[in-house]
Amino acid sequence: MDFDVIIGFETHVELKTQTKLFCSCAVDYEASPNSRICPVCTGQPGALPVLNKRAVQFTVKAGLALGCMVNRHSRFARKNYFYPDLPKGYQISQYERPFCQDGLLEITGDDGKPYPVGIKRVHLEEDAGKLVHSSSSFESSTHSFVDYNRSSVPLLEIVTDHERNPLRSVQEARGYLEKLRQILRYIEISDCSIEKGQFRCDVNISFDPEARRPLAIDRRSKTWPPSSSSWMPWNTRSRGSPRSWSPRGDDSGDKALRRGQEGDLADEEQRGRARLPLFP
Ligand SMILES: [Zn+2]
Repeated sequence: MDFDVIIGFETHVELKTQTKLFCSCAVDYEASPNSRICPVCTGQPGALPVLNKRAVQFTVKAGLALGCMVNRHSRFARKNYFYPDLPKGYQISQYERPFCQDGLLEITGDDGKPYPVGIKRVHLEEDAGKLVHSSSSFESSTHSFVDYNRSSVPLLEIVTDHERNPLRSVQEARGYLEKLRQILRYIEISDCSIEKGQFRCDVNISFDPEARRPLAIDRRSKTWPPSSSSWMPWNTRSRGSPRSWSPRGDDSGDKALRRGQEGDLADEEQRGRARLPLFP
């Protein structure tokens, strides 16, 4: 049986700031464990976060480079969950109002033509700490350590759009990740070192046997970069011409402002449009 495939990515990128997202602790990947921590990034009672301005600038820069609309008003949210590397018991992230949304990243499609992959959102959040197990195998580990140096390091999350020009083959997925990493390195907001975990992604793969919705099978993987054998040769049965789509932002002057319209965002706030073109 042939399948249509839709591939989605949530890519996390550690930003190249000197200090963490909500405190003045240094971002230092070479430091000894738990030597770059303070009451804020370890979630001590009464500690108050202060937002890193440079991290916000980097986020907007990434949004512009990806042809996104930059929201005039944005909001952080608490994502509550328990894990030993998260001392606060919640992660400060974004949900309703990300800094940037509705962008694109142009790659070469399977047909050899330019294909603008839809970017759903670009938001800012804090990284968690890191667990270090006593053995390379989790099952055989007898104990684990936790290093909070990475706790609250600025983390960019870039999410592809599964409905608007999604990725539909392994080749396109690979092209997307390589192009994305290239752009983020070019605008100098991250070194995107894969060995240091500065560029990592969750993958959401949907298989659709008869090109109908809802999709039939959903598989998630958290591995990237994969081993060479992981780029399996399965591919789409066929793909029609990509839907014609261009980035928002072709208005000018006052027209570049419009009312937020979606759901709970339909309030009196106005959102500006990014018009970008850092890249041709
Ligand atoms: Zn700190």
